[in-house]
Amino acid sequence: MIEQAQRMLKQVYGFDTFRKGQGDIISGLLEGTDTLAILPTGGGKSLCYQLPAMLLPGTAIVVSPLISLMKDQVDALGRLGVSAAYLNSSLDAATYRDVIRQTAQGVYKLLYVAPERLDGTMFESFTAQMHISLIAIDEAHCVSQWGHDFRPSYRQLANWIGRLDNRPPVAAFTATATPEVTQDIADMLRLREPNVFVTGFARTNLSLSVVTGTDKRKFLRDYLAQRADQSGIIYTATRKEAEEVCDTLTRLGISAGKYHGGLGDKERAEAQELFRFDDIRVMVATNAFGMGIDKPNVRFVVHWQMPGDVESYYQEAGRAGRDGEESECVLMFEPQDVQVQRFLIERGTTDPERRTIQLNKLYTMMHYSRTERCLLQFIVSYFGEADVPACGKCSNCLDQSEKLDMTEEARKALSCVGRLKGRFGVSMASKVLKGSREKRILEFGLDRLSTYGLLRDWPEKEITDWLYWLVAEGYMRISEGEYPTVSLAAEALPVLEGTVSVFRRRSMSAKRRAGEGA
Ligand code: ADP
Repeated sequence: MIEQAQRMLKQVYGFDTFRKGQGDIISGLLEGTDTLAILPTGGGKSLCYQLPAMLLPGTAIVVSPLISLMKDQVDALGRLGVSAAYLNSSLDAATYRDVIRQTAQGVYKLLYVAPERLDGTMFESFTAQMHISLIAIDEAHCVSQWGHDFRPSYRQLANWIGRLDNRPPVAAFTATATPEVTQDIADMLRLREPNVFVTGFARTNLSLSVVTGTDKRKFLRDYLAQRADQSGIIYTATRKEAEEVCDTLTRLGISAGKYHGGLGDKERAEAQELFRFDDIRVMVATNAFGMGIDKPNVRFVVHWQMPGDVESYYQEAGRAGRDGEESECVLMFEPQDVQVQRFLIERGTTDPERRTIQLNKLYTMMHYSRTERCLLQFIVSYFGEADVPACGKCSNCLDQSEKLDMTEEARKALSCVGRLKGRFGVSMASKVLKGSREKRILEFGLDRLSTYGLLRDWPEKEITDWLYWLVAEGYMRISEGEYPTVSLAAEALPVLEGTVSVFRRRSMSAKRRAGEGA
């Protein structure tokens, strides 16, 4: 059957060869094996379930969380001559019934379904009459509490699958899963001895960079001027900012559109089409834009503000270069942006456990903004992939600035944090190093520590920043919990013992001294 799949790849899609992972995933599914595939954004996961769906008897159910994605996919399949439909809340009652009726008659090879639809006796009795060839679950990380986008409706999925007679093979796909999320997906969806495919997180056609301590508007203007013939996305954290940045660009004569959750369906669909067909060059958007946009020639993705976690960042940034061509991902970082994200988390999450998980993800994102490691290595190691060579083209790999020996300062900071024995947060540790006379310091007797005031010549803000840098570089860690505390990591020991030196880029330190960065 795999030969047949190979032929269809050419006939239906016009592609000559499978991409990494695709062939194995497809032959596994054709043999009826459950699958858990972690493919990078743009890796070509749709084909992995669409081809088996075309070849196997019956209808494949594709669970997907976003309505716009479904419509795009169904339209695209239609253009390929494959009959497909979707069920979600955007359909009126009559169309909904039509789709159900035609599904029962076996008209469709693929039926896309929003997860909310799976919960209900009507849907169950309907699927009981269907011949389901396979179940594909897109954005499968949504089933995990540990993921960055947990959706309770995904939990219903496992129950529904569990109740199916003649359970078909189940394939779960995601672009972003840490090792613990991967395990959780397999457990939650009760996959049966799944083939697990991880095709590598490193998108080597992306050049990542972090820009900090600059006038954002000026930077953006210059950046876009240098790329006058290129198409790109600018992500903002809020709708208001999306509006503002879009207005600014339009006033500068740049062809820009906007997309966010506050706009009507029609307006959004229009903007998306204009962008897709290159009638506007730059899309300014919140994270409402993107899941499922399949525009191959996005040459850059600029984040006006940092998102709340590395998963979201990499997913959004990864919308650049889907055609495999060299593309850029720029993160603009200012320390106050962390506060914005913290506010969004605190406002948006009532469950304390979820909140803690999200705050920790936010801290990791902050470390990304400060690290001096290869940025690509930072991201892929977050997803559990070691041994990826330095990319050689991110802003850290390209940073030629001199490295300063900061071993002494590191030892001062580390020994202070060591003496606080994991009881306090970064802010208290900074105050101790500063030699602050604040009431809480005196109450806890921290002024009697031998490390009290060791960095008294530094501005407190700079000390805080230094501590966060040491966290980002892995010498210390910040605990989980609503009141995160800081403690030493194993890497601190050789520094304290004097066997390892600590270097920091002059550019980073100098910027700090000029009071621009943080
Ligand atoms: P994602 O994994 O992000 O869902 P898609 O399935 O949308 O990715 O695929 C990304 C792009 O790669 C699409 O434009 C698709 O047509 C293209 N693509 C997928 N598989 C192949 C292949 N084997 N050869 C060439 N292009 C491919």
